Amino acid sequence: MKTVAIIVAGGRGKRIVVDSATCGEGNRPKQFLTLGDKPILAHTIQKFEISERIEEIILVVPEDYMGYCSQAIVDKYGFKKIKKSVGGGKERQDSVYLGLKSCPNSTSIVVIHDGVRPFISPQKISESVKLCEERKAVILAVPAKETIKRVEAGSVITTLDREKLWLVQTPQVFEYELILEAHEKAKEDHFIGMDDSILVERLGYEVGVLEGDYQNIKITTSEDLAMAERILQSEKKRCLE
Ligand code: C5P
Repeated sequence: MKTVAIIVAGGRGKRIVVDSATCGEGNRPKQFLTLGDKPILAHTIQKFEISERIEEIILVVPEDYMGYCSQAIVDKYGFKKIKKSVGGGKERQDSVYLGLKSCPNSTSIVVIHDGVRPFISPQKISESVKLCEERKAVILAVPAKETIKRVEAGSVITTLDREKLWLVQTPQVFEYELILEAHEKAKEDHFIGMDDSILVERLGYEVGVLEGDYQNIKITTSEDLAMAERILQSEKKRCLE
C-alpha cells in the first residue's frame, strides 16, 4: 500500500504582480515564478522528493503548462517520484479530485499539498502521515496570533474567541478511500469547500490537527513572494551554521 502526495499547482495565481522586465517571467502562474535559484514549485516538490514517507507524487498543473512544467521543472531538476502529471480543473477542489482519480490502485494514504507552499518541512510531512495512520484525517494548522473579527459592510459583527482559532495550512492528509468518498459526495451535492478537510467534516468524521510551522506560508501576493525570499535566506543561513 502506498502513500502518495498530490501537489496541486493547477491555478493561475492572478493575485501576484511581477515586474516582467526585471525577472522576464511575464504572466506565468505564480507557482512557476523564481524563488532564490529555482521555481517556487520546484522547491515544493523537492521537500516531497526527500521525504522518506512519500512513495509517489502526482502533480496537478494548468493544462496549457503541462509541457512547460515537464521540461522546466520535472526533467530539469530530475524529480524521480513524479509518476504522473495531470491537467488542473476550474477550482482547486476540482484539481484535487483529478489528482485523486489519478492515484494508483494501491494508494492507502494521500498527502494533499499546495504547490505554492515551498517551506513545508520533510519532518512535518512525516509527522502528518504518522498521525493519519491513527486518525484517518489530519490537517496542519497554527494557532491564530491576532484577534479575528467577523466584519460585514464595514462594521464588526462578532469578535471570535482567539483561544480556539487556528490558521489552516496544507498538507492535509487522509486515508485514500475516505477523501475520495468525501470529494464524490461534495460533487454530487455541488458543494465547494474552502479546503479538503471540510469535505470530510461534513460527512461527520473527526479531523485531527497537527501543529505546523508559521513559515509554511502560501505564496499568494507579491508581499508573500518578498517574505518567501527572506525565509529562504534564513533557511540557507541555518544550513550553513
Ligand atoms: O488559489 P489558492 O491560493 O487557494 O491556490 C492554492 C493552490 O491550489 C495553488 O498551488 C494553486 O495552484 C492550486 N490550484 C489548483 N487548481 C485551481 C486553483 C488552484 O491546483 N483551479
